[in-house]
Amino acid sequence: MSVPHKLVEVRDLKMHFPIRGGLLQRVVGAVKAVDGVSFDIYQGETLGLVGESGCGKSTCGRALLRLYEVTGGSILIEGKDIAEVNAEELRQMRPTMQMVFQDPQASLNPRMSVANIIAEPLDEHMKLSKSERQARIAELMDQVGLNRDFANRYPHEFSGGQRQRIGIARALALNPKFIVCDEPIAALDVSIQAQVVNLLEDLQDRLGLTYLFISHDLSMVRHIATRVAVMYLGKIVELAPRAALYSTPQHPYTQALLSAVPDPDPAIAANRHRQILTGDVPSPANPPKGCNFNTRCPKVMEICRQKDPEFREVSPGCFAACHLLNDDQNNKPGRVT
Ligand code: SF4
Repeated sequence: MSVPHKLVEVRDLKMHFPIRGGLLQRVVGAVKAVDGVSFDIYQGETLGLVGESGCGKSTCGRALLRLYEVTGGSILIEGKDIAEVNAEELRQMRPTMQMVFQDPQASLNPRMSVANIIAEPLDEHMKLSKSERQARIAELMDQVGLNRDFANRYPHEFSGGQRQRIGIARALALNPKFIVCDEPIAALDVSIQAQVVNLLEDLQDRLGLTYLFISHDLSMVRHIATRVAVMYLGKIVELAPRAALYSTPQHPYTQALLSAVPDPDPAIAANRHRQILTGDVPSPANPPKGCNFNTRCPKVMEICRQKDPEFREVSPGCFAACHLLNDDQNNKPGRVT
């Protein structure tokens, strides 16, 4: 069996935003939106990135495309560290990686026609003749299921789902390999969400795309993802193939999140008990010492308040960060439940 090709390799990625205070606006702290995450994305797969709002998943997705200057760590895309490349190298890498944004209304310029919106990346990166440009716009509109006769209309003349298709067509313009889909269906009517997800899946099959699919909707991620990473307070706490994560979640936070999601398998649903997490998510400007889930974890132990658990492979292909999953800590006295 051939070894899957790693398209994206993220190591110890940190994205901290400075907090300034006082008369001189000195840096007095940092919001640790992403605080040391590591994962790979294989060619042709969809990695789902889930977590509650504010956990850092969108920041992580944007950092991967270097829409921010990252604070630390490395992001290799096809072997090149995007965190380190200079402006010209970054420009040359841009066609490879694109983004589909959450709110199609806000991400499309209302004063530009659909044709010009879709052609924006073409105009910046390619030298096409007028007829080649028109042909490519028409081809892209066909690919996303938009009527090419509407190319000269403006975004407000389209529905929310159609506007998201315009955003997807723009993302596809330069034949990318990797697309970060940042909550691409969150702003859409429920009736339209499945259509957009199906379109993304079709395009992946046809064009061999690789996705990072960011969402708070665990049911939708279950539908589309090959593997799923769960984020809490700036860190990935668990990453596993979809079936393993949904049937046997290892980390207490994943277990709590999934306990609220209806399971289509009656055997799993019957054994599932709803867990309500108490307490608020701590501020990423002041995360707790030790495991950052320790203030809400129903299985917290003494060591959890002292030592940050290592994110490691706990079974083949399944990674998690929890002291409970370390053999030497399991069943030790001092556990507080
Ligand atoms: Fe809970 Fe401790 Fe595991 Fe953190 S390390 S998830 S606090 S049991």
